Amino acid sequence: MTAIKGGACSKGTEILRATQQLIKKTVDRLELPSAVYEILKEPRTVVGAALPIEMDDGSIKVFPAYRCQHNNALGPYKGGIRFHPDVDMDEVIALSMWMTFKCAVVGVPYGGGKGGVTCDPLQMSQREIERVSREYVRAMASVLGSDKDIPAPDVNTNPQVMAWMADEYSKIKQAPSFGVVTGKPLTAGGCYGRKESTGRGISIVTREAAKAFNIPLDTARLVIQGFGNVGSSTAKILADLGCTIIGVGDITGGLYNKSGIDIYKLLEHVAKTGFVEGFPGEAEVITNEELLTLDCDILIPAALENQLTGRNANDIKAKIIVEAANGPTTAEADKIFVERNIPVVPDILSNSGGVTVSYFEWVQNNYSYYWSEQEINQRLEEKMVEAFYNIYNFYCSKCKANNYTMREA
Ligand code: NAD
Repeated sequence: MTAIKGGACSKGTEILRATQQLIKKTVDRLELPSAVYEILKEPRTVVGAALPIEMDDGSIKVFPAYRCQHNNALGPYKGGIRFHPDVDMDEVIALSMWMTFKCAVVGVPYGGGKGGVTCDPLQMSQREIERVSREYVRAMASVLGSDKDIPAPDVNTNPQVMAWMADEYSKIKQAPSFGVVTGKPLTAGGCYGRKESTGRGISIVTREAAKAFNIPLDTARLVIQGFGNVGSSTAKILADLGCTIIGVGDITGGLYNKSGIDIYKLLEHVAKTGFVEGFPGEAEVITNEELLTLDCDILIPAALENQLTGRNANDIKAKIIVEAANGPTTAEADKIFVERNIPVVPDILSNSGGVTVSYFEWVQNNYSYYWSEQEINQRLEEKMVEAFYNIYNFYCSKCKANNYTMREA
């Protein structure tokens, strides 16, 4: 793992350094004891493994794999497992740190963890992905467990991968062990509402942020970048709340209609084609850069990291930004938004609906007592509203006057 220092480094190391710097800055600004920084700047445990996998053509490939456990002061470690060619140890460590803060912010009794395998699932068959998933659990079984460390899906992992992992762990323990991972399919101990839980949480936070920052939601104009799982479910729920979504975009580009895009029609189109490109409804085609700088009330970046940067932060016209993706705003852009008085609702608050419903899944698995979708959504509503006002009230009373951000709050 990497302490703060200079020199060329991987993207993961850069993210880790930036995370350590933000922890340092926040601990100093909030005048917390330096021990808080000393403890939080490093993970408690990092496990590395090499996974030998038989490929479909009979050859053997060895994939590096990691599980990082950052801090368990509040409960067992919790965090997703990512399958991606760019995964490295420092990226996994940084992401585990964000999970510690995310779980604390939303008040679920977990610490922060994260896992990853350096592989390219887009080039692999389902059988090969299954072998990687099961081998990962065999390599990490001693550090996992429903009372120790509970993985979940992340980039390129899904309910099917979680079902394989729960099954493999149950075989090792010789007992059904559903609670070892969350984000499972409903038929394998999963939870109603998990798929759209992140978007639902973002929508609740957007609604409360609009109230707090005096933006009437029924006349608000919204822009959403990213129309995957998070962006599309956020768009659907906010459209149901009566919001006018004037711009959306994905990797193929953006769409703009100043009177509002028909989100249900767009959902149908994306279900058929996979992308917003070629939308037959009424909308002007724009670039992603134009999308981000549209004149709007609320901007929701829901695609990927580093979208709002020093390069475009001065051109953003939104009154508030609600981060849906992880890390969409760079530190440089954050500084500009403070100067321009544009509040940013941080990712660890706004996208914490996913981990909250994961927590509900784990509770149900541990009790073997299952709740209805309505109960799940009601409990999510309560958790998200409480988390929003905990942070917002602290920001108003202790941070705003000194130009500290909601992220620091
Ligand atoms: P996804 O893969 O389903 O969707 C990503 C979307 O972003 C797609 O519409 C894609 O076309 C678009 N996109 C990709 N590259 C782009 C680019 N260069 N420019 C514009 N758009 C681009 O992923 P997701 O699950 O919706 O996750 C989105 C973000 O939310 C990620 O940062 C993820 O880490 C974060 N997040 C997801 C969850 C969850 O439950 N899925 C929970 C917390 C945070």
